[in-house]
Amino acid sequence: MSKKAQQQILRLRQDLLRHNKLYYIDAKPELTDLEYDQLLEELHKLEQLYPEYDASDSPTKRVGEQPVEYLVTIDHRLPMLSIDNTYNLEELRKFGQRIRDSLDGREAEWVVELKIDGVAASVIYENGVLARALTRGNGVQGDDITHNIRTIADIPLRLLGDDCPDVLEVRGEVYMTNHDLAQINERQRLRGESPFKNTRNATAGSIRQLDPRICAERKLRMFCHGIGYCEGIRSSGHMEFLDEIRGYGLPASPFVSSFPTFEEAITHCEFLTQEIQDIDFEVDGIVLKLNHFHQREALGNTAKSPRWIVAYKWERYEAITTLNNITVQVGKTGAITPVAELEPVELAGTTVSRSSLHNADEIKRKDIRIGDVVVVEKAGKIIPRVVRVEKHERKVKLPEFPFPTHCPECETAVVKDEGGVYIRCPNYQCPAQLRERVRFFATRNAMDIEGLGDKLVEQLVSSGLISGYADLYQLSIGQLSELERMGELSSKNVVENIQASKTRGLAKVLNALSIRHVGAQVAATIAEHFQTLERLRKASVEQLSEINEIGGVIAESLYRFVNESPGKEILEQLEIAGVEMIQQDSGNAQQSDLFAGKTFVVTGTLVNYTRNQIHDLIVQHGGKTSTSISGKTDYLVAGENAGSKLAKAQQLEVQVLSEEGFEQLVSTENQQPGGPENLLF
Ligand code: ZN
Repeated sequence: MSKKAQQQILRLRQDLLRHNKLYYIDAKPELTDLEYDQLLEELHKLEQLYPEYDASDSPTKRVGEQPVEYLVTIDHRLPMLSIDNTYNLEELRKFGQRIRDSLDGREAEWVVELKIDGVAASVIYENGVLARALTRGNGVQGDDITHNIRTIADIPLRLLGDDCPDVLEVRGEVYMTNHDLAQINERQRLRGESPFKNTRNATAGSIRQLDPRICAERKLRMFCHGIGYCEGIRSSGHMEFLDEIRGYGLPASPFVSSFPTFEEAITHCEFLTQEIQDIDFEVDGIVLKLNHFHQREALGNTAKSPRWIVAYKWERYEAITTLNNITVQVGKTGAITPVAELEPVELAGTTVSRSSLHNADEIKRKDIRIGDVVVVEKAGKIIPRVVRVEKHERKVKLPEFPFPTHCPECETAVVKDEGGVYIRCPNYQCPAQLRERVRFFATRNAMDIEGLGDKLVEQLVSSGLISGYADLYQLSIGQLSELERMGELSSKNVVENIQASKTRGLAKVLNALSIRHVGAQVAATIAEHFQTLERLRKASVEQLSEINEIGGVIAESLYRFVNESPGKEILEQLEIAGVEMIQQDSGNAQQSDLFAGKTFVVTGTLVNYTRNQIHDLIVQHGGKTSTSISGKTDYLVAGENAGSKLAKAQQLEVQVLSEEGFEQLVSTENQQPGGPENLLF
């Protein structure tokens, strides 16, 4: 009987471990919270019946029974240094230049990730079991917070899999979500205790508690983003390391990507600030670090911080104000966006009175109600946003916000995106959508029509002078000068600017048309690839999706726009109006079909090319590139220090090319790729 019980206990622990990973790491839970708790309870009962099989790494042992008496100070096996900060792009570029100089002018691969605003911690596993966790402390010694780290639900007490490293020290940031802070502050108020000012203070005040039961109540979480003292790990770079620890069930930082040059990494920083508008945790900057460990080692540390890592910090400002109302706006693709109408408040030198609430889910998740006291934040270049509701300030019952069921502008019943978060007005003729689309059409990155501003677009739409883009090109000076605030001269200028926009080229036109999933980048790629609208019209969905960076969803959306109503007619009308639908050759046009249907992965340090150059060459010959090796990879171009990708390619029997091999392949236009043996090594 007890043998059977032992097996059952072990099986339950394995199951719980797996479900924990599904929930926290993969975000694909298979069990409801209730079902999970029932499994946990079942295990707990068995462990009480058979105490001989109890274990400290059982998922039932997250919260210890007894508080510790004081926090013990312990040496870090490797110093836990802090990161140098920069506050503007100029300083950041100087840092990049310094690193390039140290690497003899060579480019290096850079990782870009979020700087999460929490409390740094180190977590150590020995033989797969959580052994110890420390605060950063003074960098040389930290405080033992193992009893509290154990309460963090996304930190496993035992690593997944049976080939864990002997010693694994991960470093990361303990944090709290804004959603949880709102609830915790409400509880603080009920208990007559003062609320926490922000998530970082709440985290710091929880992680050093002597009683783990208090910490457990605070629902802390952790993201792992760094490597400490390890024995027996497999990775040779940061991106691989994150994959490796994810495999062990650890929560690696989200929104991480790597770039072949520092400049590309910087460009991504701007993009990233837009990407993270509706995340539920606080970020106070971006971190850039070298991907490859051997390059990190070569650079070493200063007394204070590693030389291979830098933070690009934002100054963060917060203010508290009242939410007077929630209004909705209809966007150019019909998405209905709720907007917070705030009691005007001073924030970092500007007065803030409106802020996007993004979507209906966001309102629900943050439980935002009209009349609430809310925290607004402005950080870096980010537009102000509502961080959370101060629920403890909700003195009276407030009703939930009823999201509109009909478009506020044209009264069409709204629809929810399949699988998406947006609620849309599906009426393409909706005047609000038309207005937003024409506004966008005229912007700098699109058709760049100076003088065709928001007010004028509104007048043109509401007066019925235009009902589509092509109508713009028929407007006369006489028609415009009859509108309010439009003189003869400004009308003449606008008409001239509209006519001048006919020659912006196919990329700008495709971007200007607000085709779903088609932004400036995709439009440029498509225009470069096809050169003319005529050729684009002949492309199938499959052909579109084979182009680098164009996924299935984008291909489908673009194909439908080009070939079906109303997009088909819009393009025809613009052609008739005289808008040029060709792209001037920009040098990256396809030169041959040599690599048609072939997928390349490039890895290691290249001597003769930059990553961009080799990428362009592959594309120019009809191939595409990918960042990871899979069964679909045809070639791996491997430079020096190729590392794990080389091993994986050999394992999957992917053909491996040296740089020279690749060059020969490109120069043998008539040969079928993959032919001669001597190209391989
Ligand atoms: Zn509408």
